Amino acid sequence: MSDKEKRMTTAAGIPVGDNQNSQTAGPRGPVLMQDHHLMEKMAHFNRERVPERVVHAKGAGAHGVFTVTGDISGYTCAKLFSKVGNQCEAFARFSTVAGELGSADTVRDPRGFALKFYTEEGNWDMVGNNTPVFFVRDPLKFSDFIHSQKRDPATGMRDNTMQWDFWSLSPESLHQITTLFSDRGIPATYRHMNGYSSHTFSLWNEKGERYWIKWHFKTVQGIKTLTEEEGAKIAGEDPDYHRRDLEDAIKRGEYPQWKAYVQIMPEQDAETYSIHPFDLTKVWPHGDYPLIEVGVLELNRNPENYFAEVEQAAFEPSNLPPGMGASPDKMLQARLLSYPDAHRYRIGINYTSLPVNKPKCPMHTYHRDGQTRFDGNAGGAVNYEPNSFGGPTEDPSAKEPPLRISGDADHYDHRDGNEDYSQAGALYRLMSADQKAQLIGNLVNAMKDVPREIQVRQAIHFYRADPDYGQGVADGLGIPVSEISK
Ligand code: NDP
Repeated sequence: MSDKEKRMTTAAGIPVGDNQNSQTAGPRGPVLMQDHHLMEKMAHFNRERVPERVVHAKGAGAHGVFTVTGDISGYTCAKLFSKVGNQCEAFARFSTVAGELGSADTVRDPRGFALKFYTEEGNWDMVGNNTPVFFVRDPLKFSDFIHSQKRDPATGMRDNTMQWDFWSLSPESLHQITTLFSDRGIPATYRHMNGYSSHTFSLWNEKGERYWIKWHFKTVQGIKTLTEEEGAKIAGEDPDYHRRDLEDAIKRGEYPQWKAYVQIMPEQDAETYSIHPFDLTKVWPHGDYPLIEVGVLELNRNPENYFAEVEQAAFEPSNLPPGMGASPDKMLQARLLSYPDAHRYRIGINYTSLPVNKPKCPMHTYHRDGQTRFDGNAGGAVNYEPNSFGGPTEDPSAKEPPLRISGDADHYDHRDGNEDYSQAGALYRLMSADQKAQLIGNLVNAMKDVPREIQVRQAIHFYRADPDYGQGVADGLGIPVSEISK
């Protein structure tokens, strides 16, 4: 670096003469307004934080590569999947959900599992969780659910009563609660957990055939978890434990990998399949739709600047290159709007031009201007369409096949025809005796101080999923089984 390059400047490039002493009237005198360098430094510092994400605030990220290992080109015309061996760069961000930016990593919470694949036809974002299902199935209940998990408006503290009040009145949450309070509710590290799209998405091919799909990213490192006690101890000693683990593993050259699988359902099956295929509280049993191996994701490069690459990373489930599509899942439909909307609010309308979010293929839009436009704003290129000056035009081959939709517009009860118990029960029954004991112990611990009326209402749900499950929780809370076995 030349002496000139090392010279400190203001943001306007003006050399700074003194970065140790403010300009004052006399050695003990007050600071002068004209000390522009001091004013700029303080003003910039005051604006260093962008609003933290309202959910998934605390996270860690890394760059990597995705390699296609299985042929699904019959199901999708997405160029990424045109042949085995194709690769693209990727970026992953893992997170907790409810805690704030400085909260501890090793708490009981679902983990965000957000992936960005920089494909040659634009970014594909797989914005999932480490759980295959979610707490609610109607987006109208999402903000209520999150409020119940966040801080009590009166005390500013998190409150088990709020959580269990909402959950016990929302039995569709039972499957996800069973996952969350199981051993998998506190992953040992971000490297030792699976990721799931949870939502149903779609693939479509050149013939215009559509398939409903679910993504699974299974950890090659194996599932490892922490007990409640281990998590609490680590949270006190190193709140950034998961962030540090990911960074250190990559530094050591131990690049974490996930094998990507897809479950594929022909479009017509959705009409007759016994499980509502667009219900986010349900999985598709592997026996019905087996996992098909598609690729491998490897993370091999740490961010060089956390804020630029992780805090400003913006994932959106609406990022789906041609050959991939959404589904009628109501929660997904709402997220298609709410994710980009959150980014526009949090980091500004031009967030897609930030290096971590920018596609690595050519990008030609007619969007112009807006706050903090920093990329040349397309220079003098024509800014309307149609035009006579050779501006970019649409490509009909990118159009998704038509989707047949019918029905009268109404507020349909999302509980009609959707039972909430069988899959929660199936999950309970596949657990080992030790996992069952951990699940019940974790639940009893979390529920022990909530009002009895709420305990009973929730224990009835556990009993309906599996009598043994309900009895275990009831025994732990001192509730006679006769009160819940209705
Ligand atoms: P399968 O036996 O075919 O699949 C069981 C799945 O459950 C495996 O993917 C396994 O993941 C996962 N699993 C195993 N033990 C646990 C545990 N203690 N906690 C959480 N997940 C676990 O059965 P089905 O497909 O019929 O599913 C049965 C139940 O398994 C479902 O009701 C659901 O709760 C749960 N499940 C199902 C998934 C699916 O997509 N079908 C995905 C994840 C869970 P792994 O191989 O990584 O251990």
